[in-house]
Amino acid sequence: FEGIEYADESRSVSYLLPINFGVPLWIITLIGLALLTMRRALLESQHHAKDSRASANRFERLMSVTNGGVLLLKEGRILDANPMLEELYACPLRDLIGQPLTALFEADGELAEQLAAADSRPHDRRALRGDGSHFAAELSVAALDDGSRVAEIRDVSTRKALEEELRLLAFRDPLTGALNRRAFAERAEHELLRSRRQKTSICLAIFDLDHFKQINDRYGHAVGDQVLQRFSRLCQERIRRTDLFARFGGEEFVLLMPDTGQDQAIALLDLLRTHWAEEQLDSPQGIFRSTVSIGVVPIEGVSPLEYGLERADAALYEAKSDGRNRVAVSRS
Ligand code: GH3
Ligand code: MG
Ligand code: MG
Repeated sequence: FEGIEYADESRSVSYLLPINFGVPLWIITLIGLALLTMRRALLESQHHAKDSRASANRFERLMSVTNGGVLLLKEGRILDANPMLEELYACPLRDLIGQPLTALFEADGELAEQLAAADSRPHDRRALRGDGSHFAAELSVAALDDGSRVAEIRDVSTRKALEEELRLLAFRDPLTGALNRRAFAERAEHELLRSRRQKTSICLAIFDLDHFKQINDRYGHAVGDQVLQRFSRLCQERIRRTDLFARFGGEEFVLLMPDTGQDQAIALLDLLRTHWAEEQLDSPQGIFRSTVSIGVVPIEGVSPLEYGLERADAALYEAKSDGRNRVAVSRS
């Protein structure tokens, strides 16, 4: 094709020659130069067209391989987007085009700021679908030369769920979901300081399942594990949200009750104890029951957590020696 163009141009020069035979050589040279320049310009523009077609192709391919929704925005509204956006929002592209970016997320004051800043930094946002469902998303916005914006939306719900799992693992006992020892200690210290400052009552209890070894021996370790899970669930369902419940190891649990006086604490613990004694537990050998002994102590003044735990443990020992399945208060 380029060759034919060239032949055309040279033919037009040869046309000129016989007709304008008397024309000075400098005019012919000028015309020749002009024609050469035109040819170069033509070739260049063809080159550019090819370049921009290739770059458009590359862009489209890029948009189809990314697992994020990519959008072109004009004045905050969707001008164009890749097919991934349809998938993320379960909505045909034609319905998405023209919508403001804000329609794709839960109402969030920071979204307009991010759109204005367009600094390419990813931000966590709650994406909102047309049917009202949500997903955890990461939104990045960048500015283009003409002031329009290009945005990318990624579904990060799997990563978020993993992060949450890891976070829970760091704080929770994996078997029962109760707080682990370290998380309890940290939060309990904080609660003790608060109760001292606000001069409120706070109580601490230690639970130990009775004859738990026998449960393991009779029904097996797996049933023992299920018993621990059931006990933990029963307690967590009945305590306040502000209470701290932790597994301290084996079949031993602790409960810190902020803003709770001794009588209130005993009432709650007795309720937990009686409910637990009534709980029907399953095993391959049939239904069985379990009991729990509890020691409780009101924490006063500036005594450290460790001291509270020692006294609650001493009370627990008394509950055990008094016949188990009971709540004993520390004698201070
Ligand atoms: P007591 O009434 O005096 O508390 O008697 P007990 O049998 O409950 O006391 P002991 O401390 O001797 O027994 C606790 C048992 O708990 C022993 C141990 O094998 C078992 N245990 C500790 N951790 C776990 C666990 O994670 N799962 C199961 N199934 N058993 C556990
Ligand atoms: Mg024990
Ligand atoms: Mg025990």
